[in-house]
Amino acid sequence: MAARAAERFETVIIGGAQAGLATGYHLGKRGRSFVILEASGRVGDSWRKRWPSLRLYSPAGMDGLPGMPFPASKHSFPSGAEMADYLEAYAARFELPVRTGVAVDGLERDAGGYVLTAGEQRFEADNVVIATGVFQHDHPIVPDFAADLDPGIRQIHSADYRSPEQLRPGAVLVVGASHSGGDIAYEVARAGFETILSGRDTGQIPVAIESRKARLGWPVLRLLWTRVLTVSTPLGRKVKGEIRTHGGPLLRVKRADLEAAGVERVLERTVGVESGKPVLADGRVVDAANVVWCTGFRNDYSWIRFPLPLEDDGYPEQMHGAVAAIPGLYFVGLPFLHSFSSMLVLGAGRDGGRVAEQIASHPSRNGTGEEASRTLVWNGTLADVGVPAASGERSD
Ligand SMILES: Cc1cc2nc3c(=O)[nH]c(=O)nc-3n(C[C@H](O)[C@H](O)[C@H](O)COP(=O)(O)OP(=O)(O)OC[C@H]3O[C@@H](n4cnc5c(N)ncnc54)[C@H](O)[C@@H]3O)c2cc1C
Repeated sequence: MAARAAERFETVIIGGAQAGLATGYHLGKRGRSFVILEASGRVGDSWRKRWPSLRLYSPAGMDGLPGMPFPASKHSFPSGAEMADYLEAYAARFELPVRTGVAVDGLERDAGGYVLTAGEQRFEADNVVIATGVFQHDHPIVPDFAADLDPGIRQIHSADYRSPEQLRPGAVLVVGASHSGGDIAYEVARAGFETILSGRDTGQIPVAIESRKARLGWPVLRLLWTRVLTVSTPLGRKVKGEIRTHGGPLLRVKRADLEAAGVERVLERTVGVESGKPVLADGRVVDAANVVWCTGFRNDYSWIRFPLPLEDDGYPEQMHGAVAAIPGLYFVGLPFLHSFSSMLVLGAGRDGGRVAEQIASHPSRNGTGEEASRTLVWNGTLADVGVPAASGERSD
């Protein structure tokens, strides 16, 4: 089948969840032409794919994107499904031009900017914003030795974990003790499974997040996560390394909750297999009937067909989202893109705004700044088409 003709946009945003939508909102406010390409069938699916009992650890007051607060009491904690529906409603409310079911599988540079492909579809753009997330459901990390485990052991990655009903009778080894590991170990232990949680301690925040006391603490955490823990402060740079390499601290489920639920907490990592069973770093062989891998996700940028400058930790090199070495290329939603909040709903608006500001600081090929928001289209009369101008017209 012949490839379709390319559609051209000033900016293509890849990924239509919180980071991509917030960036789109700010581009729309500035009157710039853009489209958002989203691989899933529905906006919000990244949240829908997470386990159904998931409730956000950030209160609703910190879960809103620019222009539309989360529609719940600011002290309540939305479920993943509610967050997904909120994102869908957000895209609809601001008429953000999201095309669902479009998975970008190629990104190249050419003399005019960028060429993107998604199967037979082809797009051209001056700017590309990559908002594909860092907890990518389709790219779970599982250690190589997992393949040597006895086939009778049920193995699930947190990406596919739904509920304890998926597990076989017998002990459960949860590998990875950041907050996904903590939440899942807690849930399976409370469902009656003998549960062992293996992995280094990533710390915990000092208050019970749903307590009245925590209501006083959230404004402090907000300040810490947005203004103090940033790449501009020594403390922020230290925490950046920890978060990017080992994951975040326990938030809802704490050490004491794990203990109360009967979870056996071992700080040793799971390092290999002996006689088909998982082995911990101290040599202990765990007689597990189930292993739940809470070992994180890989950032898949294999579809980017040009060298991407990376930091030592493997994350793209950028400043306020812009890749200096590659004009017109931006990222949003990376952990510590700028601050701790960059990977949270809380930080999506600010980071997306900064990226939109940088894009808008260059003249649009349709005109400049504000003028670009008013695209004149001949349809018998001269119609004034407001933002967002998402129709793919070639603008040169
Ligand atoms: C278990 C869990 C709980 C969390 N809880 C909270 C919380 O309580 N509060 C909070 O603030 N944060 C929380 N987070 C962190 C963060 O807010 C979420 O990970 C959030 O989903 C990140 O949003 P995002 O837009 O950056 O990426 P994602 O939500 O991952 O969205 C990326 C989008 O890009 C699309 N995509 C990917 N590749 C392509 C492609 N090639 N072409 C087109 N589209 C593509 C995907 O389909 C997806 O829709 C949690 C994360 C996890 C894993």
